[in-house]
Amino acid sequence: MNSLWLSYENIKNLDYKTDLKGSINCDVTIIGGGIFGVTCAYYLSKLGYKTVILEKFTIGSRTTGHTTGKITSLHGLFYDYLINSFGKKFAKDYLDVNEKAIENIKNIIDENNINCDFKYQNNYIYAKSEEDLLKIKKEINAVSSLDYNCEFVSKTSLPFDTLGSICFKNQAQFHPLKYLEGLCKSILENLGEIYINTTVTDVKNDGDNYITFTPDAKISSKYVIIASHYPFINFPGFYFTKLYQSTSYLIAIDPKKTLGNGMYISASEPYLSFRTATYDNKELLLIGGMGHKTGYTKSENETYGKLEEIAKKYYPDSDILFRWDTNDCISLDKLPYIGSYSSLMPNVFVGTGFKKWGMTLSNVAANIIVDKIQEKENKYEYLFNSHRLKPLKNIDEFKNMLVDSSNSLLFRKLETSNLDFFEIPQNSGGIIEINNEKVGVYKDNDGNIHAIKPICTHLGCLLSWNDTDKTWDCPCHGSRYDFDGNNLYNPAFKDLEKYDL
Ligand SMILES: Cc1cc2nc3c(=O)[nH]c(=O)nc-3n(C[C@H](O)[C@H](O)[C@H](O)COP(=O)(O)OP(=O)(O)OC[C@H]3O[C@@H](n4cnc5c(N)ncnc54)[C@H](O)[C@@H]3O)c2cc1C
Repeated sequence: MNSLWLSYENIKNLDYKTDLKGSINCDVTIIGGGIFGVTCAYYLSKLGYKTVILEKFTIGSRTTGHTTGKITSLHGLFYDYLINSFGKKFAKDYLDVNEKAIENIKNIIDENNINCDFKYQNNYIYAKSEEDLLKIKKEINAVSSLDYNCEFVSKTSLPFDTLGSICFKNQAQFHPLKYLEGLCKSILENLGEIYINTTVTDVKNDGDNYITFTPDAKISSKYVIIASHYPFINFPGFYFTKLYQSTSYLIAIDPKKTLGNGMYISASEPYLSFRTATYDNKELLLIGGMGHKTGYTKSENETYGKLEEIAKKYYPDSDILFRWDTNDCISLDKLPYIGSYSSLMPNVFVGTGFKKWGMTLSNVAANIIVDKIQEKENKYEYLFNSHRLKPLKNIDEFKNMLVDSSNSLLFRKLETSNLDFFEIPQNSGGIIEINNEKVGVYKDNDGNIHAIKPICTHLGCLLSWNDTDKTWDCPCHGSRYDFDGNNLYNPAFKDLEKYDL
């Protein structure tokens, strides 16, 4: 089963190109056709910049096509953290710019008549324990001190009791792929070009311009925007030392009963998230959560199984129609990196680390970068400075990340396998040793063996087998591959070496 959003076929029928060969020129090259890249292209092509999007797969098919699609400035319990870490002005600006992004998205939808199931909703974070209730009350104090009108609510339309919630009004939900379709139509009308199935392999400086390389073409432009989710250029930038990925799971159910209003997320881990969505004239319920660091795989029972248990408990007659998962990038201080990619690459820009709140943050990022290209000041740019060095308040997370990376690079390569080649059950996989070489194998339902070299093509970490999704996942930086070794997620962009056994 795939994502509910990716079942929307119309977005595939626009006038994309696939056969980029030779050399072309444009003003701005955008690498990646998720919500961030497409939003940048939307604004820039409207301003008259000749804009080219290069997308490795199809538009919106990665993280954006697997999101929950809540458009909100309530990014978990975040404002107390922001005030304590960076001060009140900083927290207020973060809140204001995300509220502005909700307005921007609504304006784009209205101006372009985009039919994307946009619906204003209240957004709640609920408490199920006394400890969580204290956190909620603290957050309400923090948000109120920023002159924002949030509310404490004791009753919700969730199917279980809570001890209370923080509520932000006038937040929203939408269908992310229908929204991207509307943006892409505008980009194409404004003479932007969108190349799909086109992988970028490098970006190099060439005098006043940059050359972006694909296997068959060179694109020359003054500006480049790296909108590839996790940046794939390691040096300069060094984003691989300051970003990790986290995977979460979603199911969409037909609850067979009428649902109330609102979007919800729990105050503490394991986070559980709820929202409604329309599909085939029915109102579905999306239940998400069970997140973990990408590459540290959990069993199906601990992921989809837990979500399905919740569905069956509260909606016993429900049918599960879709299930999917995806990963998002998280920085060590929990703030995105938005702005110039590196001081060594002026006019190359990045937006990443949206920490599972990229619907508004991608709009914020696009506005900051579009202003930078126009050499206009943006008063929110300082919040997300992409060159900041020290994740001061999150030093433990930083240490953990370094330990994880070095474990995977050095020690995990010495692990011995516990899988016997002749006894691999069907539909299972893992790492075995053949002639002192580590080999990643998956036996499919027909008994065919799919074998790969289980070393990530990004920085050489040993991959983990993900038995839930039948993918090879990297515990260092979150790259993912299918069981045949085809690359699915950044920062790696090359496939794994395949073996014929
Ligand atoms: C489970 C989950 C639920 C979420 N729910 C919400 C939510 O409710 N609200 C919210 O605000 N946010 C949410 N988010 C976060 C949000 O979905 C993401 O932050 C956002 O979609 C990221 O968009 P993007 O454009 O940066 O990345 P993507 O959508 O991943 O786009 C990047 C694109 O770049 C392409 N690419 C990569 N490398 C190359 C290359 N070398 N050459 C060419 N193209 C390349 C990829 O194929 C991809 O299409 C959620 C995230 C997760 C994981």
